Amino acid sequence: MMMREPLLKLKHVTRRFRSGARDLTVLPEMTLSIHKGEFVAIVGPSGSGKSTLMQLLGCLDRADSGSYRIDGREVQTLSADDLARLRRERFGFVFQRYHLIAHLGALENIEVPAIYRGIRREPRRAHALDLLARLGLTDRANHLPGALSGGQQQRVSIARALMNGADIILADEPTGALDSESGRDVLTILRELNAQGRTSILVTHDMQVAASTHRIVEIREGRIVGDRIVAERSGQARLSSPGPFVARPSQSTQRGFPASRMAWRALFARKLRTLLTMLGVVIGIASVLSVVGIGESTRRDVARQVTSLGPNTIDVYPGKDWGDSQASSIKTLVPSDAELLQRQSYVDSVTTETRCAVLLRYRNVDANAQAGGVGEYFLRVHGIELTAGAFFGSRDVQR
Ligand code: ADP
Ligand code: MG
Repeated sequence: MMMREPLLKLKHVTRRFRSGARDLTVLPEMTLSIHKGEFVAIVGPSGSGKSTLMQLLGCLDRADSGSYRIDGREVQTLSADDLARLRRERFGFVFQRYHLIAHLGALENIEVPAIYRGIRREPRRAHALDLLARLGLTDRANHLPGALSGGQQQRVSIARALMNGADIILADEPTGALDSESGRDVLTILRELNAQGRTSILVTHDMQVAASTHRIVEIREGRIVGDRIVAERSGQARLSSPGPFVARPSQSTQRGFPASRMAWRALFARKLRTLLTMLGVVIGIASVLSVVGIGESTRRDVARQVTSLGPNTIDVYPGKDWGDSQASSIKTLVPSDAELLQRQSYVDSVTTETRCAVLLRYRNVDANAQAGGVGEYFLRVHGIELTAGAFFGSRDVQR
C-alpha cells in the first residue's frame, strides 16, 4: 500500500513557556501525524497540554523547536503573513467559550472571517445566511450572543469556522460548557462536517464524546501515552466532492472598508465608556472644589487628595510612548535607576512596579489575570493609606 503524506505532521516539536524565573516545558517532544479526512479526539487531564497542541496545529502559536508540516510544507519558517493566510483559509476554530464578538449579531459574527478575507458584502451575506440556515439559526440572525443559548452560540461559532471554507476543524472542548443535549447536537454537526471530508480534531475530556470519533490520542504531561483507532473513517469516500458547507465565494480587493468599520465599532464601544468615565471624574472633582461654603480646611484636604493622585507623581515607562510594541523587550530600565532617583533632593519617594500576565485555572476554567509587584514606598507614592494589615518593608522587598 502506498502511504500518503500526512495532512498535518508534527515531528519532535517542543513548546516551553517562561513564567517569571521558571521554565515550563509543556510539550517536551511531540510527534504526531494526522491524515486528511480523519476525525481525531485528543484526551488527557487538565493542564496536560491539549490546548497548547491545538494552538500549534492551528498555527495560532509557534513551536520552540522541531518541525511542523502541513501538506508537506514546513510552517516553522513561514512569515507571520503567510501563517495568517494559512490560518484564515484552511483552519476553522471552535472554542469552549465560543469567543463571539458581543456587540455583533449572529449573522455579523459569522461574516467576520470573510470580511478579513476581503469578500464583498453580497456574496458574504448570502453565504453567512446559508450557513445560518444549515445550522438551524435563521430566526436568530440578528440576536446578539448574549441573547442566545450556549448551544446556539456554539452553532454560530461553528458557522463562523466554516465561513472561509476551512478544510481542517479544530475544536477545543466544544461541548465542555453545554448541557448534554446541546452537546450532542454540536457533536452531530462536527461528525457531519467530517463525513463531508473535513479533517476534524477535537479536544475533550468526556470519553463518550471521544468515542464518537475515529481515533483517540491520549496525552499526559505533554506526551502521547495512547493512540488508537476506534472506528473506520467515514470521510474517505467523499474526499473529492466538496460538501455543501464548503464555500468558495469570489474574491474582492476592497477589504479595507468593512474591516475598519468593524474595528471602529469595537473601538467606539470602549471609547464611549472611557470618555464617560473621564467625564465623571472631572465633574466629580470640579464640583467638590467649587461647592460654595465649603470650609477652608476641607477644601485644602480635598485639594491635597486630588494632588496625591496625580500632578506631582511622575511615571517612568520603558519605550517611546503608549503602545510602543518594543517596550517589553527594553531591559535598560532597572531597579538601580529607582535608587538613583530616590537620592535626588527633589524626590519624595520612589517605587518600582512590574506586572505580568498570569493564567488562573480552576478545574477546566481558565482566566487571564495580572499579577503585580511593587516597592516598599508604593503606598506613599500613590498617596494611599493602609487601613488594616501590614505592608512589606525593605527587607521583604530584598528577600
Ligand atoms: P490543557 O488544555 O490540556 O488543559 P494547556 O495546554 O492549556 O492544557 O496548558 C498546559 C500547561 O501549559 C499548563 O500548565 C498551563 O499553565 C501552561 N501554559 C499554557 N499556556 C501558557 C502560557 N501562554 N504561558 C505560560 N504557561 C502556559
Ligand atoms: Mg485546554
